[in-house]
Amino acid sequence: MPDVIVVGAGPAGSIAAKKCAEHGLDTLLLEKRALPREKVCSGMVMGEIAHTIIREEFGEIPPEVLTQPSQLNGYIFHTPGVGSQNLDNFTRLTWRRNLDHWMTQKAEAAGAQLWTGTRVTGLKEKGAGFLVQAEKGGEKQEVEARFIIGADGATSVVRKFLYPGLAVPYGQVFQELYRGELDLDKSYFHWFYPMEFSPAMFTAHRKDDLIVVDYGGPSGVLKKLMKWAREYLSQNHGVDFNQKPVWRGGCLQPALFRALIDHSFLPAKGNVLLAGEAGGFVLPISGEGIGTCFRSGLSAASAVIKAAETGAPADSHYFNGVQPMISAFEEMLPWFKKVITETRSGGHSLPQVVADAYGATLRTF
Ligand SMILES: Cc1cc2nc3c(=O)[nH]c(=O)nc-3n(C[C@H](O)[C@H](O)[C@H](O)COP(=O)(O)OP(=O)(O)OC[C@H]3O[C@@H](n4cnc5c(N)ncnc54)[C@H](O)[C@@H]3O)c2cc1C
Repeated sequence: MPDVIVVGAGPAGSIAAKKCAEHGLDTLLLEKRALPREKVCSGMVMGEIAHTIIREEFGEIPPEVLTQPSQLNGYIFHTPGVGSQNLDNFTRLTWRRNLDHWMTQKAEAAGAQLWTGTRVTGLKEKGAGFLVQAEKGGEKQEVEARFIIGADGATSVVRKFLYPGLAVPYGQVFQELYRGELDLDKSYFHWFYPMEFSPAMFTAHRKDDLIVVDYGGPSGVLKKLMKWAREYLSQNHGVDFNQKPVWRGGCLQPALFRALIDHSFLPAKGNVLLAGEAGGFVLPISGEGIGTCFRSGLSAASAVIKAAETGAPADSHYFNGVQPMISAFEEMLPWFKKVITETRSGGHSLPQVVADAYGATLRTF
């Protein structure tokens, strides 16, 4: 019987599994997809936390995991008809399928056992531990462990087990990949906040031989925003939307900041801990999630390691570990209001306000 089951082999799950295995815990990592797998994401290693933890825990990102270009000088925020503002910030660029696969292989090399194609379907308390129910290759599986780390992303099954009635506010995001031209500086990532839609936005950047376009906002405006963005990018930056996209995907992003801050949502109960987006750990404003996944994944692993040594439940250790991140969320939240206020008052400084808001998220915690 493993000591700890980690559900989900994204950045939060891989780092948690790697750390637990390195400390000698018998660690089982369950992933529903075959690996490597696609993930709707821009694949940028952005903030100082993400850079530092990746270097310390996994090493330098190998060239085959990086894209062309392999790094960006930063981001440019555009409000069509108003202007643009740069925010310089050294950023590594990857495809998530490659980055995540590299990190999962590191977790395996540290001793974690990986079962891919294994979808967790339920969780039950059993004795002093838990029974994880899963489906693997069409067959039902049951595995027991004393500790569970739910790192199964935005719509986490483990979170539903802990909080079956929780109403999670979600943002909705679509991503499309195209071939051809994008007449924008490719050493920057481009965020567009059109006045008509702000704070909903779209982004465009070039990666390898593809153009990546993302659209994000509340579901009510997304259809109109996508139409507007395609017209704008085709007329002003040469993107050909008449072709079929090479790839298209969508996902949800949880917005649990406020519930984390006022403790109405606790990202752990006893020995079941939620890391990464399962626990709501994604930065307000920018939606950057790789660094927060690392921070919460590491905190979850160290809470499990301490609890295994002392016999006390892991949750209180975990709350202490993630509190600095939750306090940082609280300090970032007022920027949402500043972006909305600036939009409503005519948006003459919107690119500057948005750049300042993103700048405020690029900090350590
Ligand atoms: C459009 C977009 C762009 C983004 N760009 C960036 C960026 O450039 N930089 C950045 O830092 N962040 C970015 N983010 C945020 C980032 O992608 C996420 O915060 C991050 O991937 C969350 O990682 P995670 O480990 O929590 O979950 P995930 O990466 O979603 O991994 C969860 C894993 O769990 C598996 N899983 C799910 N359910 C089950 C189950 N029942 N059983 C077993 N396995 C399961 C999934 O298959 C998946 O592999 C972006 C997000 C979006 C939507």
